[in-house]
Amino acid sequence: MAPTAVNPPRGSVLVLVGPSGVGKGTVIAQLRRRFPSVWCSVSATTREPRPGERDGEHYFFITPERFTELVDSGGMLEWAWVHETERYGTPREPVEERLAAGLPVVLEIDLQGARQVRETMPEAHFVFLAPPSRAELEARLRGRETESAQEIERRLRTAEVELDAIDEFDHVVVNDTVDSAATQLAHVLGLIQ
Ligand code: ADP
Repeated sequence: MAPTAVNPPRGSVLVLVGPSGVGKGTVIAQLRRRFPSVWCSVSATTREPRPGERDGEHYFFITPERFTELVDSGGMLEWAWVHETERYGTPREPVEERLAAGLPVVLEIDLQGARQVRETMPEAHFVFLAPPSRAELEARLRGRETESAQEIERRLRTAEVELDAIDEFDHVVVNDTVDSAATQLAHVLGLIQ
């Protein structure tokens, strides 16, 4: 077997945004089953780990001081306050490491985060995962049975704001079937022709 190239071509970054319940997690899981080299970025947070959460796997758990340091030094691709008490963000370094190794990276983030990545990593491919219809989005969100009725209503209102921003994206992928949506993401990442 040929030795690994010292300088492989840089990997691609795909930023995936879409309303809650559209199927982002499901489609990314399918993409990773088919292309195990795809890495889904892990967020950093200042909040305490919950039971069972492992550092570097679910989140990178970091101190508020470290978070501030990373933001000030350009080490966060995007970040936000959540509930005005804790900060969450995407550290740049683990993403850069994989790109330098020629590996594909997916960032599953929200609309505000994607707008920041437009500034911090403009070469990324920005993809909006859209539902086949609003009725189907609502059915998936309700069918998942992970949120209260009130929370579902809130997410559906947020979905309207997200759908209004669809024109900001380089690609729109409709999640009609999981496999066809995963294929389209693989195409954007250059994993298939
Ligand atoms: P998100 O990560 O965007 O919040 P999920 O991946 O949790 O969404 O998917 C929401 C629900 O929709 C889940 O119950 C999932 O099984 C279902 N789902 C996802 N993609 C499809 C699809 N293409 N067709 C039908 N159901 C889907």
